[in-house]
Amino acid sequence: MIALVVIAGVSLALFAVMFVPLERAFPARAAQRPWRADSAVDLAFFAGQYLVWSTLALAVLTAVRGQLDHVVPAAWRHDVAALPLAAQVAIAIVAGDLLVYAWHRACHAVPLLWRFHAVHHTTTSLDWLAAHREHPLDGVTTQLVQNLPAMILALSLREVGALVVIRGAWGLFIHANLRLDVGWLRFVLGAPALHHHHHAKDAVPANFANLAPWIDVVFGTYHRPTGPEAYPLGVPEPAPRGYLALLVWPFRRPAVDSGARGPIVEGPCVTSSPPPTSRLRPTWRSIGRSAWRRTAAPR
Ligand SMILES: [Zn+2]
Repeated sequence: MIALVVIAGVSLALFAVMFVPLERAFPARAAQRPWRADSAVDLAFFAGQYLVWSTLALAVLTAVRGQLDHVVPAAWRHDVAALPLAAQVAIAIVAGDLLVYAWHRACHAVPLLWRFHAVHHTTTSLDWLAAHREHPLDGVTTQLVQNLPAMILALSLREVGALVVIRGAWGLFIHANLRLDVGWLRFVLGAPALHHHHHAKDAVPANFANLAPWIDVVFGTYHRPTGPEAYPLGVPEPAPRGYLALLVWPFRRPAVDSGARGPIVEGPCVTSSPPPTSRLRPTWRSIGRSAWRRTAAPR
């Protein structure tokens, strides 16, 4: 437990040193302060994640990996092991990104999954600390889905752990209160502007592939917003604000989830009340320029 506290403390200090100056220098929302109304709640999510839920996640990943050893054919794993490590890691990353994209879309379309994922979306201010606001069941299942290919390929726990750390660090970056153009990296690793729009309160969901936006491009859910980031964040339905209240919220919500953000359809990715008969769709040429072509939807 002491080791977990030390890791949590060092990580928190490291993240603060890295992100606070960056957020002050290149803010997406200049009026937002580093310590805001809900920072204490997000700090509780951080502490819970590091001190409690990380142990649960590790136990689940270890147990599933053990079960996979009985299921995945040894000969197949032998063939995969003959590939260079870089190729194995690349396969694990791409397959993991595809799986987690599908999972994230399902989290927005299936009411039962949205109950848990909605906790992550209750934040009304995004920064590096808010990235930790995640229901533990949402977090553990996402980790499992994301790392399933790596475990099927029998990458070592150390290699899987390295992937988790790298993805986690970039996960903080895309939630941070930042407006930084990372160039072509935004297609491969994601960017704050893309993921912030995913948290928009009233927009049709887009940008599900948090750390691999090229998948959104392929499946037509990519949207790169332009202009100042002035749209409201959060969930359409009323949500509690406290840490413990948010943990039990998924179990106490009404059976019919009218607030679920689905189904996934083509639609406006802007929040400024577009005409009901219009829709937006990306064109390959426009993707780099973040332009969306507005077309009349068939009635
Ligand atoms: Zn989401």
